[in-house]
Formats: sequence, C-alpha cells, structure tokens
Amino acid sequence: MSNGHVDLHQFMEGVKRRNPHQDEFVQAVQEVAEDIFAFIADKAAYHEQQILRRIAEPDRVVSFRVCWEDDAGNIRVQRGWRVQNNNAIGPYKGGIRFHPAVNESVLKFLAFEQTFKNALTGLPMGGGKGGANFNPKGKSEREIMRFCQSFMTELYRHIGADVDVPAGDIGVGAREIGYMFGQYKRITGNFTGVLTGKGLEWGGSLIRTEATGYGAVYFLAEMLATKGESLAGKTAVISGSGNVATHAAEKIVQLGGKVVTLSDSGGFIHDPDGIGQEKIDWVKTHKTHRRGRIEDYVAAFPGATFHAGRTPWGVPCDVALPCATQNELLGEDAKTLVANGCRAVAEGANMPTDLDGVHVFKAARLLYAPGKASNAGGVAVSGLEMSQNSERRSWKEEELQQMLKDIMSGIHQACIRYGDQGGGYIDYVKGANIAGFKKVADAMLAFGVV
Ligand code: NDP
Repeated sequence: MSNGHVDLHQFMEGVKRRNPHQDEFVQAVQEVAEDIFAFIADKAAYHEQQILRRIAEPDRVVSFRVCWEDDAGNIRVQRGWRVQNNNAIGPYKGGIRFHPAVNESVLKFLAFEQTFKNALTGLPMGGGKGGANFNPKGKSEREIMRFCQSFMTELYRHIGADVDVPAGDIGVGAREIGYMFGQYKRITGNFTGVLTGKGLEWGGSLIRTEATGYGAVYFLAEMLATKGESLAGKTAVISGSGNVATHAAEKIVQLGGKVVTLSDSGGFIHDPDGIGQEKIDWVKTHKTHRRGRIEDYVAAFPGATFHAGRTPWGVPCDVALPCATQNELLGEDAKTLVANGCRAVAEGANMPTDLDGVHVFKAARLLYAPGKASNAGGVAVSGLEMSQNSERRSWKEEELQQMLKDIMSGIHQACIRYGDQGGGYIDYVKGANIAGFKKVADAMLAFGVV
C-alpha cells in the first residue's frame, strides 16, 4: 500500500505534532515543503519512499551536560547538543553556536537547512549543527577555554574527520575552534581535520574567515547581473556586526557599493557617509577582539546615529543583507524594504526572514536569495579545508578565491535551473530548495530504506 498521498497541510500537521514547541524547526521545514510538494507531485518514488519526511527527521540528536567552573569558583551547568540531520552525500557538516537562546529547535532548524545548503555547494557534505546555551558575553578568556574544553570532552565521541566535522557559528570563532581542537587532539591523540575554521598554522584554510560574507555578496552580484546591474553605486543596509556582516560589508565596499548600517543585539547604527574599509576595520576590532557594543561606533564616528533596540530595515536602500540571526526581518520589515525601493536581498544569516517576509518578497518578485543559497560560501570553503587536510597541503589564496566564486556561481545556476518562473522572475527560494533536495533525495533512493 502506498502511504505517500498526504498533502502539504497534512504533512505539516504531522511535523508540528512530532515536534511540539519547536517553532523554528517547523518554520524551516514549512519553507522547504512548500516548494518540494509541488516539485514531487508527479514523481512517485519520492513520495513512496517518504524522502522529505525522512530528511525532516534528524538521523540523531545528541544532548549532553557541560559542566565548567567559572573564575569565582562556582560550578556552572550548561546543555550541549549535536544534531546530525542527514549524511546521505557526505559526513555531517555544520557549525557550533554558543548563545543563550540556543535550544533543540534552533539547532534542528539549522541542521535541516544545512543539509540543503551543503548539497547546493556541490561538495560531498551532509548536514549537521551543534551548540550550547552558553553565553560567551562577559566571560573571561579562561572561562571560555574551560567551557570549550568541557564541551569537547563530550562532543569528541560523536565526531570525526569522516563522520561529522563541526565549524564555527554565532559565538564560536577562531579562538573557540582553537580550544576545542586542542582538547580533541589531547583526548584522542589524533591530528585530523575534525573541525574547520582552524588557524592557518594548524590546518586552517585561507579565506575561510571571509568566505561567508564575501560569498553572499558574490551571490548578490550574480543576481543583479541577471538584470544587467552591478553593485557599483548601490546603497546597502546590513544587519549584524560579526564575522558574516563585516566581511559582507567589506566586499560591498570593494565592489563599489556604499554600506550605511550595521547592528548588534542592542540596536543599529546608521552612517549616511558610508561605512568604508577603515570603519569596518574599527568594527572588527571593537566587536570581535574587544567584545564591544556597536553603539560605541557613534562616539568614534560622529556622523552616525544609534537606534537602540531596532533593526535597520527602515533605512532606504538598493540592497539589503540580513547577517545577524534567525527571524530578524519580519513581514512588515519586508513590506517596508519593498516600499522603499529595495531591489535585492541576500541573506548572510540563516533564516533571517520569517515566512511572512519570504511571501512578501516572492509576491513582489524581488531578487531574493535565501541563506541556504547565498551564505553557502562559508561551508564551501570549510569543505575545501577538509580536502586540504586530507591531502595534507594548503592551497593558494588565488586558487581558493576562484573556487569560492565558481561555487557561488554554480549555486546561482542551480537556482535558475529550478527556480526560473518565466517573465524574468527567478524564485531563488524554490530553486535552492529543489536543487538541494534533489541531490540528497537521489542519494537516499540509492541506499534503500535505511
Ligand atoms: P557572530 O557571532 O560573528 O556575529 C553575530 C552577530 O549577530 C553579532 O553582531 C550579534 O550581536 C548579532 N546577533 C546575534 N544574535 C542576535 C539577536 N538575537 N538579535 C540581534 N542580533 C543578534 O556570528 P556570525 O557572523 O558567524 O553569524 C551570523 C549569522 O550568519 C548566523 O545566522 C549564522 O548561522 C550565519 N552563518 C554564519 C556562517 C559563518 O561562516 N560564520 C556561515 C553561514 C551562516 P551581539 O554581538 O550583540 O550578540
């Protein structure tokens, strides 16, 4: 008997029932399912083999206690997770997030998205994600080190260079990867490419740090080129001020655009004079190295204003890049951007636009790239870091820059292949969802019911 005849509504009711209180995860599945149901309508094998249902059920979710001692001698207890969503096309791969808002729903949505994103890169990587509800803000260097070591003391048994290869994400940069890699090596005695985003001296890849932000802007440039336009002279509104946001800003400036906003969890700064390279360098030092707040920007650059507790989407712009976190751009914000004449949106963050916002962009036929397509540059260079580790060599910067551009261009082509709606409109969400799904699904069909 075929059990493949549920419709989209019934499918989503099942996802909601099986994942109570996991709103982010349900949202991510819904966004994908809306496109996949139409695509597989006439493809019986995908229905009969329950492929989407299987991708939307993680292979496993590991959760564990992380105990550590703070500088005052208090014992602290956090919860850590690793979600291994799907390894049909390669080892699980995806970042680690340290943020107080991390929970199972957030990590399941990220691991689900990662499965499609990694497939889009064309590299052999499955999807995973991990993290802990640990707040790195205000912690001393030693506290961060002790937490990372304790986290890895449990995580190490679930990962491996051919099994699952984590990387950084919010709250996890080169410093944290260093502490975790050091602990993995100490426990196992193995020097292998078990993490990416490593330092250049110990197996890291050139351009990994820049790759997500740069890649998002390359993708944006590809989208504009379909309309015969470029970034030169365009005004860009960017949210966030971390790794992705600052490197996206840098590449916009290099390509002749003008960046007028950045933000953090405290609010956004608006600098009508433009945030050029010198100011971006100041932000990088202030936010990443000094762990400061973006509001301090206005004291350093008096032409700017700070808007507490607000996101930057009301500032008129030609292009927008949400690069902070999930659900930071809502339906009303999307309407404002469209009304203000915004031409293109490329997501640097994962799922920054909520479902209402996605529907607004689609209805307005905007050039709109979902994160799984436009922010795939980071994981793509992570994949190249894995290849270099396996070969035990380091490729040159020019080679890697070219590979990153080629991969972003390949993703853009894949989106056009499955997302071209005719009349000059490309639905990049649909294109990315179908292209990513098809690759994973076909591998799963080959393996049978496992
Ligand atoms: P960082 O930790 O370097 O920076 C995060 C930035 O987002 C900070 O400015 C932070 O502000 C802000 N932010 C975080 N949470 C919130 C919130 N709840 N509300 C408002 N602002 C917030 O992280 P990344 O730049 O690495 O990551 C940003 C996004 O990009 C995430 O969605 C991540 O998953 C995605 N991404 C990252 C990749 C990478 O290679 N790093 C790859 C692909 C996607 P504050 O300092 O106040 O916390």
